[in-house]
Amino acid sequence: MTNPFQLLGISDDVVNAVKDLGFENPTPIQEQSIPVLLEGTNDFVGLAQTGTGKTAAFGLPLLELIDFKLTKPQALILCPTRELCLQIANDLKNFSKNIANAHVVAVYGGANIMQQLREIRQGVQIVVATPGRMLDIIGRKAIDFSNVKYVVLDEADEMLNMGFQDDINDILSTTPDDKKTWLFSATMPSEVRRIAKNYMDNPIELTMGTKNTGNVNIDHEYYIVRARDKYAALKRIVDFNPDIFGVVFCKTKLDTQDIAEHLIKDGYNADALHGDLSQQQRDKVMQRFRERNMQLLIATDVAARGIDVNNVTHVINYSLPDEIESYTHRSGRTGRAGKTGVSICIINSKELGKIRQLERIIGKQFTKAELPTGFDVCEKQLFSLVHKVHNVEVNNEQIDQYIPRIMDEFADLSKEDVIKRFASLEFNRFLEYYSKAPDLNAPAGDDRGERGERGERRGRGSEGYTRLFINLGSVDEFTRGDMLSFICNNGKISGKSVGKIDLKGVFSFFEVEDAVADKVFEGFKSVEFNGRQVRIERSGDGGGERRGGGDRRGGFGGERRSGGGGYRGGDRRSGGGRREGGNSGGGFRDFSGRSREDKGGSGRRESGSGERRKKW
Ligand code: AMP
Repeated sequence: MTNPFQLLGISDDVVNAVKDLGFENPTPIQEQSIPVLLEGTNDFVGLAQTGTGKTAAFGLPLLELIDFKLTKPQALILCPTRELCLQIANDLKNFSKNIANAHVVAVYGGANIMQQLREIRQGVQIVVATPGRMLDIIGRKAIDFSNVKYVVLDEADEMLNMGFQDDINDILSTTPDDKKTWLFSATMPSEVRRIAKNYMDNPIELTMGTKNTGNVNIDHEYYIVRARDKYAALKRIVDFNPDIFGVVFCKTKLDTQDIAEHLIKDGYNADALHGDLSQQQRDKVMQRFRERNMQLLIATDVAARGIDVNNVTHVINYSLPDEIESYTHRSGRTGRAGKTGVSICIINSKELGKIRQLERIIGKQFTKAELPTGFDVCEKQLFSLVHKVHNVEVNNEQIDQYIPRIMDEFADLSKEDVIKRFASLEFNRFLEYYSKAPDLNAPAGDDRGERGERGERRGRGSEGYTRLFINLGSVDEFTRGDMLSFICNNGKISGKSVGKIDLKGVFSFFEVEDAVADKVFEGFKSVEFNGRQVRIERSGDGGGERRGGGDRRGGFGGERRSGGGGYRGGDRRSGGGRREGGNSGGGFRDFSGRSREDKGGSGRRESGSGERRKKW
């Protein structure tokens, strides 16, 4: 029987390689683009979502068109991120594994340039690159593009959004005029249109799916909650989906870190991914996520670009993105490779209009979902546990020796009692947490949400909370998460009693429930940090801000940066080792290891991506 890839015109060597990868049938985008691109005579614009099999759609035709006897760069693939770059290069290496003398190099920032230059010198036909590092190498006159016949611009919208337009211009100017350009983009903002017009000659356009339409495998849902209940809502959604493997999107690096820290503290298997992490730290986080050693990845839009991890079950928009287009990219992290997925938005009632806008743009309806009750969550967790117990693989060889002792232990219990006890092990934990769980669904039209969750109210302390001043701040390397643990540990109170934490430079403010304020004062009576007395005051007690600043300069100025070991290094590490390998130098995060491209790139991206994009 003829293989369907063969029918599209792909040669045996490549067909065998994709068969080894488990590709049995071409995906729709491959079916449509492979025959067109195999002609090799046209420019091409493909409007396609990520995760649809795009890499093979352009990669397989490229392998047919390249002359592998000639060891010179003939194809250049530009893409926005290091992660995507590595992934494309890896896919192409796999597709070409049976082709003699096929060489693919990945060129990206944050890695040793010497090794990349060496690979280029040894001879390559396909270069997969991020724009910054590519320009660097071109600047060193270390690459000859005179034989390039095909340039692929992958995720073109993202590259433009990240400010790579000029870099792309410069790179393309070093390639021959008669090359063919193939552009892929998930969305088609006017800037991408302009690129297509400027760089391409009568391109063949293919739209995979309806224009701007989200992946059909993704369901879109929204929950309306009050802003202060957002975090609780997130936890409830996660608890209601025991097998969740998800990406949670936040708007800012700070939120990302904050949510991740709270989740970790609350016992979830989560970590943060944002632009302030060094490349090494990002790689570590991603590796854990890819290997499914982590259930929840909390990310900014920028950091999550190019994350192509299969089997992501949920994308959760903890905050809606600033730019409408970003929603497509976020939700595209799930529902990949034919799998189904859910994209969830946690919103307040004032944001309903944005949901309607999104519906228009992606051409799909969102379902209004109700947050499950505490009881629903407990029930779901219970049966998930029962299911797991039922299906667990039993290692008879190892456990048999213990069975007599175990039976002995349970001798006085009936079968039903034993089952109840096993089920209760996990169930009790949820029951305890959810026994008095409130309804978190906010009625539509209720704008109380705007008053804010932890951290959003300004002024002298939220209702029911006492606002306190503390003479420690971000210069002491405290994050909000650190401050929260510091307050809880010393004040001997639960995190639930802490309200807003307002981290300033040399001092901070935080809120605690009125009922525990005295306890906190008591707890902090003789606390020291790096040899200094920690001082807390009611924030209204005579202008803490001013005095705080004064105190720091007068009393503690010299000491505060000397230590660095202090509370943070120790406590953070003992707090579950969540940052193993992530911190360097005494437990503090190292931001200095990033490459030129990463620094420029992430700076540009996280702060400056908005200008050209459509806002709400
Ligand atoms: P991509 O959009 O190229 O990142 O591909 C998304 C995922 O789909 C990757 O894990 C690919 O390995 C997988 N994939 C691509 N084409 C096929 C195919 N024809 N059959 C099965 N899986 C595929």
